[in-house]
Amino acid sequence: MKEFEKNIRRVEPYVPGEQPQTKVIKLNTNENPYPPAPGVLCAMKEMETQMDSLRLYPDPTSDSLVSALADYYQVGKDQVFVGVGSDDVLAMCFLTFFNSEKPIFFPDITYSFYKVWADLYRIPYECKPVDENFRIRKEDYYGENGGVIFPNPNAPTSIYENLEFVEDILQHNQDVIVIVDEAYIDFAGESAMALLDKYENLIITQTFSKARSMAGMRIGYAIASPLLIKYLNDAKYSFNSYTMNKTSLVYGVEAVKDKVYFEEVVDKIVATRDWAAGQFAELGFVFPKPSGNFLFVSHPDYDAGELFCALKEAGIYVRYWNQERIRDYMRVTVGTRKEMEELFAFLRKYMNK
Ligand code: PMP
Repeated sequence: MKEFEKNIRRVEPYVPGEQPQTKVIKLNTNENPYPPAPGVLCAMKEMETQMDSLRLYPDPTSDSLVSALADYYQVGKDQVFVGVGSDDVLAMCFLTFFNSEKPIFFPDITYSFYKVWADLYRIPYECKPVDENFRIRKEDYYGENGGVIFPNPNAPTSIYENLEFVEDILQHNQDVIVIVDEAYIDFAGESAMALLDKYENLIITQTFSKARSMAGMRIGYAIASPLLIKYLNDAKYSFNSYTMNKTSLVYGVEAVKDKVYFEEVVDKIVATRDWAAGQFAELGFVFPKPSGNFLFVSHPDYDAGELFCALKEAGIYVRYWNQERIRDYMRVTVGTRKEMEELFAFLRKYMNK
């Protein structure tokens, strides 16, 4: 190692799913197969007349988007923080809220970025093993810690835990910050937003990348007590004042406005998911009950790694991790009904069924 390398912050980075530049059936990164709300297209056309505004920095407070989200969730504007995808929001949360000498707790099978942020910021952490059915064991989170984070539904398992479960973890962790990562909540059940009034230490993150079909725009947000949002903003303004570009602010507002379209898209994806679950079961796959826009499937007679490669060869991309506890599983994003039919046609042929 060169002498000057000794003081370099070295990290093992997060590895995102592939973004192939050729046309494939893309079921590997939990994107939405449907376009964003029609209002976004109108706003795109309108943007052409606003070229001149690109000379200027965007609004550092992102007020238009913050207001739209505050209206939507019926919370104060001082309870909303926006960022460049929920990855940006979560990274800012780790930096701001996890500064204890005690370890933060999160599940062993979960969004793999948590470990990366903890390493990046030198935050001690303990991974709490999920049970043999991939369920988070809430009792594991009762011990002393420097903070707690878990996704609900969890990823890549797609398992949703009800509000009683979330509240139990909150009740046992009132002296630290608890982050509930709700990237997939719109496909699942009740959000922890209902608990915000009761727990000032709760922070909920959500995203425009999944149910709102805008992964390409990179918009995420956190909802919490005004106190926590103030601390988040202080950290943000100490890092980069202009996180949200002008176009994402405009398109983001349009996407929030159209509740009807949003619900239609979510309903379609949930219906396709539930149909796909039936198909997987018919083919002998086993999987936890899916609550996100993806399924976490395994087959007793087929090697998941080999199946993943065979699917890729056929132009169908899913996600696979050659990792302890989950190497028998593939994560399959819910695409359109037609895409899923092609997936099952391939699987039937592969399995001679
Ligand atoms: N949380 C979870 C659990 C996720 O799966 C993802 C998507 N990879 C994210 C957060 C981040 O999504 P985004 O940055 O697109 O909002």
